[in-house]
Amino acid sequence: MYKHLRLLKAVAFAAEKHKDQRRKDANASPYINHVIAVASILADEGNVTDEDLLVAAILHDTVEDTKTSYAELEEHFGERVAGIVREVTDDKTLAKEVRKRLQEEHAPDASAPAKQLKIADKINNLRDIMHNPPANWPDERKREYLLWTIRVVAGCRGVNGRLDQAFDETVSSAARHLGVALEHLQR
Ligand code: NDP
Ligand code: ZN
Repeated sequence: MYKHLRLLKAVAFAAEKHKDQRRKDANASPYINHVIAVASILADEGNVTDEDLLVAAILHDTVEDTKTSYAELEEHFGERVAGIVREVTDDKTLAKEVRKRLQEEHAPDASAPAKQLKIADKINNLRDIMHNPPANWPDERKREYLLWTIRVVAGCRGVNGRLDQAFDETVSSAARHLGVALEHLQR
């Protein structure tokens, strides 16, 4: 009966942490929508049933974007969840270009759960780039973002075929949407 209690606890925890944060789209959507969408992609499109991974998906941007520590995640959700979140968290003390490059370099060394979480995160961000894009992003910046996600996900593939396929379909739509020739995309 209480099977999904931990997931609900994570949603409540993340909603509180992200309550003053908004996405970058013109309507400034609530940030919590993004993390719920990422967990849903894992569950619905990736058939993921590992509850720690779904909980980590809900919490994946708390340390990066809000005042949340790994110790706090560990206390409330356990060591494994905190560890997965740690693997997908950028070090914000580094310059953005360095963080972007490190994501590409480190992706192949990530654990299987962290790789799936990264793919689901990129799928949701690409869908947002198409349907709720950051305000004031020219198409060139969207195209650069698309190419960067392809490079990061190249290092995450091979764990969950359904997610790999959902990513490829999302890339195809985004490429059509942005007028990028598919043969120019390296997978
Ligand atoms: P950012 O990292 O600034 O923005 C993308 C991130 O914003 C996403 O990964 C996502 O992070 C979050 N996000 C919030 N709202 C949205 C939304 N509605 N749609 C999609 N993502 C959202 O972008 P980049 O710096 O990576 O820019 C993309 C490319 O453009 C880069 O290759 C860069 O070189 C180039 N560029 C960058 C400029 C700059 O000022 N940085 C200027 C011109 C070009 P999360 O997963 O954490 O939610
Ligand atoms: Zn995210």
